[in-house]
Parts: sequence; C-alpha cells; structure tokens
Amino acid sequence: RRDVGRITVGSEAFNELIGGGIETQSITEVFGEFGSGKSQISHELAVTVQLPRDLGGLDGECVFIDTENTFRPERIEQISDGFELDHEEVLQKIHIARAFNSAHQILMADKINELIQSGSNIKLVIVDSLMAHFRAEYVGRESLATRQQKLNQHLHALQNIANTYNVAVFITNQVQARPDAFFGSPTKAIGGHVLGHASTYRIWLKKGLAGKRIARLVDSPHLPEGECVFKITSDGIVD
Ligand code: ADP
Repeated sequence: RRDVGRITVGSEAFNELIGGGIETQSITEVFGEFGSGKSQISHELAVTVQLPRDLGGLDGECVFIDTENTFRPERIEQISDGFELDHEEVLQKIHIARAFNSAHQILMADKINELIQSGSNIKLVIVDSLMAHFRAEYVGRESLATRQQKLNQHLHALQNIANTYNVAVFITNQVQARPDAFFGSPTKAIGGHVLGHASTYRIWLKKGLAGKRIARLVDSPHLPEGECVFKITSDGIVD
C-alpha cells in the first residue's frame, strides 16, 4: 500500500504494540467495557493527528462522529495544552458530527466525502461509538441480519474513505467484560472473515490496577499479538 501514515496514540508502548501508531487506509477498532478508555483515546487522536509528522501526527484535521454525546471540548483543551498546541486552533480542526440515529450515522460517510472533496485536509475519522445506535434500533434476533447488513454498508463506506483519501478510521465498540468479548466485533464476522480489503486492527482495552489500562492487540494481519500498559492522565494518554 502506498504511503501509509501513522498517528501516535500518545504512549510509546502502545504505539509499538500497533506498529508505530494507528494507520491510514485501515480501520482500527478498540473495544472494551464502559470506562476502559475508548473515548479518551478518541480525544487523544483528535489532537495528535494535528501534530507535524516528525512528532507523530499527520498535519491533518479530523471528523469526530459522536453518537452518544461523549465529545468534550474541555478534554481537547487539556490534551492540546499538554502538547503545547493552541487549543482554539485544535478545536477548529475537529469537525464534530452528532449522529442522532443509525441512518443519520450512515449518511455521514457521504458528508465526509463532500468535506474532503471541498478541500478539507481530513486525515482521521473517529466513530465513537460505532454500534450504539445500531444496537438500540435493531433489537431481537429477527433484526440481526438487517443490523449486520446496515453495519457492513457503513463500515464499507468508512473503509472506502480510508483507501481513497489515505485517511485513518478509528472506531470504538463497547462490549461486556467477559472472556468471549472479542467475538463481539463489528469488523470481524464469526468465522474469521475480516471486513474490507485493507488491514483491520483490533485492540482490546482492559482496566488494570491503580488506574492503569491494558491494551491487547488481537487478530492483527501483520503484527504479533501482544499487550501493553498505558495511563490516562489530564494531559492525555501516556506510558
Ligand atoms: P469508555 O471506554 O467508556 O469510552 P472513557 O474513555 O470515557 O471510557 O474513559 C473514562 C476514564 O478515563 C475515567 O474513568 C477516568 O479513569 C479516565 N479519565 C477521563 N478523564 C481523565 C482526566 N482528565 N484525567 C485522568 N483520567 C481521566
């Protein structure tokens, strides 16, 4: 694949685990229980994508698709301050898109295409969280097939943006804390088929002791499985 870009997640150990940061032309999925750090990493990346390339960014802007009202400008300000960036400028380069339902969320991929075609330097699309609306709207066994079909449509549109414009896509997925959690992935259907053509990274986040977090890379196409420890601080994600 031509000139894949990488965006730092703030922690060196975490970056190493995933091959140097989250990749463009790929979908990276983080999954874990409530409070495991999914939204915090989303906020971190919304800032770090704006850093120059020599500091781990892509000099780019981002779209933050917010489905559960988790976006916090104050948090962006704190993380920006940690990087000594002007937080007003940083906030201007984060395009917030509030999705009110799954149909609205699906339409946002078209909007992102338009935004990029009109000249926005988008290098990252965040969807926090991918599944919330789909889970709420398609309840019961009889609607599972429709849900999966709609979800696939959405994921294909995101993958298409990633490939066409050399953009990184980062999605969060809330799952229960139980051993079979990693089968609840939207990007991997049962049987091991990974959605889309480019690589899909899947990272399982767990709470550790003393406020620490554990990230575990699972089923990566190119990298060995492994884990790392990181922390969430007021400045953002650190080792
Ligand atoms: P989720 O996986 O549900 O998206 P979050 O990303 O919202 O979880 O993580 C919430 C956790 O992040 C909090 O419980 C807290 O431990 C930590 N956190 C949030 N803000 C800060 C902060 N400013 N300083 C330190 N830790 C924070």
